[in-house]
Amino acid sequence: MSIQCYAAFEAKAELRPHTYEPGPLGPYEVELAITHCGICHSDIHLVDNDWGISTYPLVPGHEIVGTVRQCGEQVRHLSLGQRVGVGWQSGSCLQCEWCVRGDETCCAQKEATCVGRAGGFASAVHVDSRFAHPIPDGLASEHAAPLLCAGITVYTPLKAGVQPMSRVGVIGVGGLGHLAIRFAAAFGCEVTAFSTTADKQEEAHRLGARHFVASRDARPPEKLAGSLDFLLSTVTVPLDWAAWLNVLRPRGTLWFVGASPGKIDIPPMALIVGNKSVRGSGIGPRATMQEMLEFAARHNIAAQGEVLPLAEVNAAIRKVRENRARYRIVLAT
Ligand SMILES: [Zn+2]
Ligand SMILES: [Zn+2]
Repeated sequence: MSIQCYAAFEAKAELRPHTYEPGPLGPYEVELAITHCGICHSDIHLVDNDWGISTYPLVPGHEIVGTVRQCGEQVRHLSLGQRVGVGWQSGSCLQCEWCVRGDETCCAQKEATCVGRAGGFASAVHVDSRFAHPIPDGLASEHAAPLLCAGITVYTPLKAGVQPMSRVGVIGVGGLGHLAIRFAAAFGCEVTAFSTTADKQEEAHRLGARHFVASRDARPPEKLAGSLDFLLSTVTVPLDWAAWLNVLRPRGTLWFVGASPGKIDIPPMALIVGNKSVRGSGIGPRATMQEMLEFAARHNIAAQGEVLPLAEVNAAIRKVRENRARYRIVLAT
């Protein structure tokens, strides 16, 4: 059956209705009837060909929630009608050292849901069932969709890098940052939110931040020196990273999930004194994805945002481009 979707036909273009034939279902694939798909900044980078990897027509969308409509002959763990989610990664070799370790994000043969194949701004999609994650009953589909990319992106570093008593700083209160505040607060951490927008203070507290720092400076306030154990940067602007490192306590980590432009200019002594680290990561492996979804359901962590019909995809993308989304937009079919 042909799939209705919205596609960009050239870089930076508006999306237009499009139809494609998905071909026969592979033995491990499932066909999902899509109900919801979040809009991530990466979708817009793909539409614009910012990374030089886009091919057109390009169907974006990698925060997909849908129900299983058809199963390939080898699919045993999913059933017809089951609700599942698909994030950025939709494939890996499942046999290499990294896949065997359960770290599919490092697989050399990893595949992305909407790079070189059609994504989720569509009525349906064919995906590898082993990258289709059952959504716990307690999570509404519109709340679950952004967790599949934004949620896993911030949950993975927090899981790896913080303890219940950690003092955690989240730089940027947006699509990623608002979820990072919620997860870190639910972990039991004392959270400080950093934003350039003073009117996000009340919101940050409501999300679970104990402290809020509004500043448009590239440097954090001097008085915060040596006060935090973990800093998660979700922003895509260049900041004075050496100054931010100074906010960390001994053994603290500055962790990047936001692709800030420019260089991280840090003198080695800033790491040596106090045993500090700088790390980065994107998304997370399958086991962490399933855990994150269950954690979110247990703690009632929902991505905040608005739901718009898929037919309004261009207006929705404009809103994200103009930074007017608070914090995530989810398209509903
Ligand atoms: Zn994404
Ligand atoms: Zn592999």
